[in-house]
Amino acid sequence: MKITFLGTSDAIPTASRNHTAVLLNWENENILIDCGEGTQRQFRKAKINPCNITRLLITHWHGDHVLGIPGLLQTLTFSGYNKTLKIYGPRGTRKYMKELTDAFIFTGKLKIEIKEIDKGKFVDEKDFYLEAERMTHGCPTLAYSFVKKGKLRIDKKKLKQYKLAVGVHLQKLKQGKDVVYEGKKYLAKNLTYIVDEEKISFVFDTSFNNLISKFVKGARIFVCESQFGSDMERKAKEHKHMTSVQSAKIAKEAKVGRLYLTHISQRYEKNFDKLLKEARKIFKNSHIARDLEVVEVK
Ligand SMILES: [Zn+2]
Ligand SMILES: [Zn+2]
Repeated sequence: MKITFLGTSDAIPTASRNHTAVLLNWENENILIDCGEGTQRQFRKAKINPCNITRLLITHWHGDHVLGIPGLLQTLTFSGYNKTLKIYGPRGTRKYMKELTDAFIFTGKLKIEIKEIDKGKFVDEKDFYLEAERMTHGCPTLAYSFVKKGKLRIDKKKLKQYKLAVGVHLQKLKQGKDVVYEGKKYLAKNLTYIVDEEKISFVFDTSFNNLISKFVKGARIFVCESQFGSDMERKAKEHKHMTSVQSAKIAKEAKVGRLYLTHISQRYEKNFDKLLKEARKIFKNSHIARDLEVVEVK
């Protein structure tokens, strides 16, 4: 799995930070999370063909997360994009997408499929799934997780406990299917557990809330907004954003692997070490994401 940070600024981009966008690559999937203004040029700088995109996940409809969509769509049509672009977002996404593409002369054809989501699992493929959780940001806002599915293992202790003998029926259990043995039904969920599941979570604009920690629990990588330093906690609350200390507290509680702070305010342009130091005091494996930074998860 690979993450490319295409933009890491807050609502006002700077010379070194573009509006929010992150690309997650895993095998043939290239999932773009948010698409702030100028994202398509960031693709060029990162030397990634935007036609590779398979899905676009929109966290919410504030401009700094979506202003790049029309330009990106136009480029895809000019570049012969021949897949169906699957777009997911919160309530209102269908309306906003229509208004966006009605606002200029949109030439060419592009196959787009839009799905408005609420929370929970919304894509379930053979090897991975995507899930969402509602955030608190003053407008419908979602956080997303990409989860690479793990393998099912049979819990041998439980086998003994349930007095289920070894036999061919165990193959079925390994595939997650319930089995009937000597007239009795055994549920796969009671006799198996999952290993090697890997999660990457993206929490962009939101105020601190109790849902985040549960949603990102155990993520290998946790990408989280951190617009402010701890000295501006009140302002963060007022504007429904978070501080680096709050993000680090969540990372610690959720026992994630690594924390990447993003959506950084321009006021920390020359001093983002402040945010980093504050975060590292609470959660050691904290990092400040930079534009075009690539993170490989092996
Ligand atoms: Zn934002
Ligand atoms: Zn926002």
